Amino acid sequence: MKKLFALMLALAMMLTAAAASAESLKVGLNAEFAPFEYVDDDGKITGFDVELITAIAEKMGMEVEIENMYFDGLLGALTSKMVDCLCTGMTITEERKASVDFADPYFTATQAVVVLKDNDTIHSIDDLKGKKAAVQDGTTGHFMAQDDLGCDVSDTVYKAATDAALDVVNGRADCMIIDDAVAQNLVKKYDTLTILEGMDMPVEEYGIAVNKDSAELLTKINEALAAVKEDGTYDALIAKYFN
Ligand code: GLN
Repeated sequence: MKKLFALMLALAMMLTAAAASAESLKVGLNAEFAPFEYVDDDGKITGFDVELITAIAEKMGMEVEIENMYFDGLLGALTSKMVDCLCTGMTITEERKASVDFADPYFTATQAVVVLKDNDTIHSIDDLKGKKAAVQDGTTGHFMAQDDLGCDVSDTVYKAATDAALDVVNGRADCMIIDDAVAQNLVKKYDTLTILEGMDMPVEEYGIAVNKDSAELLTKINEALAAVKEDGTYDALIAKYFN
């Protein structure tokens, strides 16, 4: 009898635990894009996007489960349902909108041109033609360098943004084309690098991506995003990561 009671108690405890543990929201990202997503000194994945999507999920009564992978694999991971959404500094573009949906924009960015401080060949957009540009595979910086700026990216496309930056540091590439906030982070890290002023690149907007058949999730994310903007969480994160 005692044994049966103990068994029933254990079962009841297990059921309560299962009910209490929130449903998980699988988030795909590339944690090499500081300050948006990166691995900190303790090996933990953190950053503006990570904290933002965690706050959003919390509003939705969900818990975030992160899948860290290379940027060029993220859209495929989403469309194959390996993850529920992407929150990874991803720019909302017409090309991407053909395969996924985006929630409301949450950050405004532009591409920056990173060069060595003692660079004396690149001073304007026109100077970029034919120059070796290091880029991260599948990013807007990659496409812009290759298709719009006429840069040579034949052997300078990298899986990780940090490797692209090293090419400029080592003088293997003339420049790097990458999102401005990440560029600012890189020039802080490598003091031989600088960002070219007055390049006048088009404005981009970051959005959380979901699958086209996930209209309900999209609505919930938009509502939760509005709520974290409303209650000051969003502003606190901006202040934490960008001041
Ligand atoms: N914003 C750029 C893009 O969407 C780069 C994103 C990233 O590297 N995480 O392509």
